[in-house]
Amino acid sequence: MKKRTKILATVGPASDSLEMLVALIKTGVNVFRLNFSHGTHSQHLVVLKRIREAMKITGLVVGVLQDISGPKIRIGELKEDFFLEEEDTLIFTTQEVVGEQLSSSSYQVSINYPQILKQLHVGDYIYLYDGIIRTKVIQVDETHVKVQVENRGILSSKKGVNFPNTRLGVDVLTSKDKKDIEWGVKNGVDFMAISFVQTAQDMINARAIVKSHGGEQNLIAKIEKFDAIENIDRIIQESDGLMVARGDLGIEVPYYEVPNLQKMLINKANAASIPVITATQMLLSMTKNERATRAEISDIANAVMDGTDAVMLSEESAIGEHPILAVETMSNTICETEKLYKYYRYEGYTNKDMGDTISESAVRLASDLDAKGIFAITSSGSSVRKLIRYKPKKSIYAITHNEQVRGQMSLIWGVIPLMSVEEVSLEKIVNSFMKRGLKEGSIKKEHSYILTAGDPIGKAGSTNMIRVISSADMQHFS
Ligand code: ATP
Ligand code: MG
Ligand code: MG
Repeated sequence: MKKRTKILATVGPASDSLEMLVALIKTGVNVFRLNFSHGTHSQHLVVLKRIREAMKITGLVVGVLQDISGPKIRIGELKEDFFLEEEDTLIFTTQEVVGEQLSSSSYQVSINYPQILKQLHVGDYIYLYDGIIRTKVIQVDETHVKVQVENRGILSSKKGVNFPNTRLGVDVLTSKDKKDIEWGVKNGVDFMAISFVQTAQDMINARAIVKSHGGEQNLIAKIEKFDAIENIDRIIQESDGLMVARGDLGIEVPYYEVPNLQKMLINKANAASIPVITATQMLLSMTKNERATRAEISDIANAVMDGTDAVMLSEESAIGEHPILAVETMSNTICETEKLYKYYRYEGYTNKDMGDTISESAVRLASDLDAKGIFAITSSGSSVRKLIRYKPKKSIYAITHNEQVRGQMSLIWGVIPLMSVEEVSLEKIVNSFMKRGLKEGSIKKEHSYILTAGDPIGKAGSTNMIRVISSADMQHFS
């Protein structure tokens, strides 16, 4: 069965071979995430080329999301993993050192923003690795902060560190980020995710950098700061999508608020017709285990029910032992959950423009006439995003001649991205893809379909027509 909620998988050492990428796409990955917190430009370029090769091999379309790391505070490299136990001590040093074990119960690490250590006081909490390891400051001097570990956990190189209630006072886009964005534009990624966004201005700044290099990437705001929650409406206006980045978010706000915030963010993104990704720890136990916990399966199902466009895998696919099994688990859970899905959500939305009204009508028409699917001819993808907020049960085919837009459609709930020939007239485009679809068997002449488009074609956001292609009309194409 075909799933509607999309799967995003982070690529890392466990998944970056051509063979794995092909298998992951076949198992249900729709978008690959390249995390620029890890790896070099040349490594990412190799992976990007392999993803494109894997698309050719499978004949399936996937998008590429470049995750821009932002000023994430991280520990440095470690000589080896630390198996931290309760009451062990860990020393953060301002010096740049390779982290190591000093005695049976003490360890030392460096940190990429050493200036933050000066803000700490005895009694403060420091969290490591998405909050999995909690520590408490017991001693502070000019060059070191000593903490006591409060719960056991394995710490490896470059893991994130969170200092609740401290301000870094640096730009959301670091100089590394700016170089990474330039790389992303040059290599034609489909999306960029901006980390630690606090205000709409952060997104405006990111967009200006992308544009300055001639890029048209979709920009996703990662919501993982308290301030971003406060400023969410303005941030949405400047973003092409949201990511509910639950790892850092669950430390910035009390952990028990995360489920409600997830629902709030998904609702707002749906209402604004922008895609939303639910991320972090969805199948964390599968990093090592072959079976997910019941709680993880419920977490995926809950995000699907909430109306997320996509669910994401992080270490499960980047460094885990079972990337393909993890994708299969997600995919099965999505398919089953969608049997009980609340399709056709019209309530609570206001139609801001003609495009909204046309989209709502097209979805109602498809449902009332029991059409098999909706074809949306789109140059920027915006008309397709508008259709999707009503969560139609019918198949939605996004037809575009822009390869990047096609990649961007991979993230949108329920959308099947297709490439059209570049034609001068709407009639010619419709003719050519209908003929092709009939020949390939993806379109059946006994069925009827709804078509939306802008006529004349080629202008973004100019959807002005709905056409019913009844089964009688289908004879015309076959
Ligand atoms: P973010 O806050 O952006 O999610 P993260 O450190 O949590 O950063 P994830 O992409 O969520 O990174 O992946 C989780 C873990 O998987 C990382 O902490 C890292 O140990 C590992 N990982 C991810 N991508 C790579 C990679 N390309 N190379 C090596 N390790 C990776
Ligand atoms: Mg994060
Ligand atoms: Mg993460």
